[in-house]
Amino acid sequence: MTELHKNTYPVPEALAKNAWIDKAKYEALYRQSIEDPEGYWAEQAKRLDWIKAPTKIKHSSLDPRNVDIRWFEDGTLNASANCLDRHLETRGDQTAIIWEGDDPSESQNITYRELHARTCQLANALKALGIGKGDVVTLYMPMIPEAAVAMLACARIGAVHSVVFGGFSPDAVAQRVIGAQSKLIITADESVRGGKQVPLKDNVDAALTRQGAEVCEKVLVVKRTGGEIDWHEGRDLWYHEQVDGQPTECAAEEMGAEDPLFILYTSGSTGAPKGMKHTTGGYLTYVSLTHQYVFDYHDGDIYWCTADVGWVTGHSYIVYGPLANGGTTLMFEGVPNYPTPGRMGEIVDKHQVNILYTAPTAIRALRAHGDDVMASSTRESLRLLGSVGEPINPEAWEWYYRVIGNSRCPVVDTWWQTENGGILIAPLPGATDLKPGSATLPLFGVRPGIVDNDGNLLEGAAEGNLVILDSWPGIARSIWGDHERFTQTYFSTYPGMYFTGDGCRRDEDGYYWITGRVDDVLNVSGHRMGTAEIESALVAHDAVAEAAVVGFPHDIKGQGIYIYVTLTEGHEPSEELQKELVKWIRTEIGPIASPDVIQWAADLPKTRSGKIMRRILRKIAANETDGLGDTSTLADPSVVDELIEHRANR
Ligand code: ATP
Ligand code: MG
Repeated sequence: MTELHKNTYPVPEALAKNAWIDKAKYEALYRQSIEDPEGYWAEQAKRLDWIKAPTKIKHSSLDPRNVDIRWFEDGTLNASANCLDRHLETRGDQTAIIWEGDDPSESQNITYRELHARTCQLANALKALGIGKGDVVTLYMPMIPEAAVAMLACARIGAVHSVVFGGFSPDAVAQRVIGAQSKLIITADESVRGGKQVPLKDNVDAALTRQGAEVCEKVLVVKRTGGEIDWHEGRDLWYHEQVDGQPTECAAEEMGAEDPLFILYTSGSTGAPKGMKHTTGGYLTYVSLTHQYVFDYHDGDIYWCTADVGWVTGHSYIVYGPLANGGTTLMFEGVPNYPTPGRMGEIVDKHQVNILYTAPTAIRALRAHGDDVMASSTRESLRLLGSVGEPINPEAWEWYYRVIGNSRCPVVDTWWQTENGGILIAPLPGATDLKPGSATLPLFGVRPGIVDNDGNLLEGAAEGNLVILDSWPGIARSIWGDHERFTQTYFSTYPGMYFTGDGCRRDEDGYYWITGRVDDVLNVSGHRMGTAEIESALVAHDAVAEAAVVGFPHDIKGQGIYIYVTLTEGHEPSEELQKELVKWIRTEIGPIASPDVIQWAADLPKTRSGKIMRRILRKIAANETDGLGDTSTLADPSVVDELIEHRANR
C-alpha cells in the first residue's frame, strides 16, 4: 500500500501566535481533559450563563444494559438566552447573522438586538398558539433568517425543535411529524434555491394528508416568495400576522441541562435515518467550545458555514455555536454554483468572510471545472478553511488549499456525526500540523479508540473500527422514542464503547484517518480495504472529478472491485482512459486494488446532504436492483435510474 499522504503543512507561525490554542496548550489541556474530565468540563461549563450553575458534572454509563448519559444534570439555563440576551449589553449592535439570498443582489445584516427582538416575538406567538415546554415543533424551512429565529424561539420557551431539511419529500415530513407527535409546523410558501422555487407549503399540505399526521394542528407560513398556495382555514396561519404585533420581549424559560433542545435525523447514508435526541447544557457547552477552538474564532471574524440548517452542521455551526460565542455567522439561501460556479468565492469577497466551512462534495464539484472557476473573486479575506461530511480526498484538500485559500489558509478537516453534537476529531489551526486527508487529532475530552472486529483495543499505529471510549457533553442521549435502537446501534457492537460505524487508521504520529464506513469495507482475496483510499487515488488523476468504490460478489476473489467514475470537464469516457485508470490504481495503491469493473457515471447517487450513497451503488454493482432499501434521503432518484440502465455487470 502507498503512503496515504505526501505533504504535511506545519502550523503557520503568525497564526500560532494569535491562536487560542497552540501546540503546548493543546497537549496540556488535552491531557487534563482526559485525566480529569470532571474538572475540565466544570471549568468549560462557565462559558455559558447558567441560571443555576451545575454541581454534578458527569454521569455516564455506556453499558448496553443501561445506557444513561447526563452532563451538568442539576444545572439550569436557557439556550436562546445564551445565544442572544447575554450579548445585548456588549454587542447588541453587532451583526449576528449576515443573510445572503439565492439572488446575489439580496442580502441583510441582522444585529443581535434585532435577532433577539424577532426571536421574542415568535416565542410569544408560539405561546399564544398553545405551544410550551416539551412540545415538539417541526421546522421545514428555507435558509432564511426565520429558520434561525424559529430554532431560538422554540429554545426560548422550552419547545423542542425538529428541523426537516427543506429538500425532503412530503413522506419524510410526515414520518418526522408522526415520530415526534408534533403539533405545529413552521414552513414557508416556497423556498428558492438555484433560481428555482421549491413548494414547501404544498409539500406540507401533502404530508398532513398521511395517516397519523393529523396530530399536527397548526401550520405557520412565512411568506418568502408570495407564490400561490392552498389555504386550510383554521389550520394555516401567516407567520407575519401572528408575529409582527407581538411584544419584543419574552422571558426565557428555565430549562434543565438535560431537557431536550432538539431532535434531528441522521443523513440516511447507511439506512433509515435515526432521530437523535440532543439536550441543552452539554450540547451548548460543547458546540461553543469546538466552534471557538477549531475555527480559532475571534471577535469580529466573519464566519461562513455553507451547510443547511436541516443538518447537524447547520444546527451546531451556523446557529448554536457561533451565536453562543457572540459571533457573526453567514447564512446562505442558495447553492454554491448559482448563478455561476464562482458564487462561493464571490460571497466570500462580498462579505469579507474570514472562515469558510464547507463539504468535500462542493469542493470536488468546483474542482471539476478547473482552477479558473474561482477567477471572479480574490478571497483575500480568508484566514481559515474547514471541511466536513465525508473523507476529503488529499487531492481535493490540496485544491481547496491552493485555489480557494490561495495557499495561505490552513484546512481543518473535521470528523463528526449527527449523534456527536459537535466536532470530535479535527486539527486546531494554531496547534496541529496538517496532513491532507487526515482529520488529525481528538479534541478536548474525546477519547477515540481503534478496535479489531473482536473488540480488542489496538495500540499505536493501527487500523480497524473507530470507537469512542467515554462520553463527552455533546453526545446524543437517545434516539427519540427508541432507546433500544440507540443502545443497539451504538453501544452493543463493542459493549461499553460508542461505535461510530466508521473505519479508521491511526498513523505513527497518532493522527486519525477515516478510511470509510465499516459497512463498505472491501474484502478482496482476504485483503481488507477501505473505500476512501482507492477513491482518493482515483481523484488524484486529472481526468477524475469524483469516484465511488464498492465490492460485488466475485467467484474467485470473494469480492471484486467495482468503480464508478465521474470525469472532470474536458474528459470523455474511452477504453483507453479505462485502461489508464486501471494502471493508475495498480501503481498508486497496488495490484490488489485493481478494479474489475469501471462504470462511467455522469453523477453519483447522494444523500441530500451531499454524501455518496455506496449502499445503492453496491446493489447496482451486484445486479440487485429490485430492493434498493431506504431511498427517502436520496437527492436525485434519476441518477440511480441512469446508473442502473448503464450498469456494467449483468
Ligand atoms: P446515517 O447515519 O443515517 O447512515 P450519515 O452517517 O451520513 O447517515 P451524518 O451524521 O450526517 O449521517 O454523517 C456522519 C458520517 O459522515 C460519519 O460517520 C462519517 O462517515 C462521515 N464524515 C463526516 N465528516 C467526516 C470527515 N471529516 N471525514 C471522514 N468522514 C466524515
Ligand atoms: Mg451515520
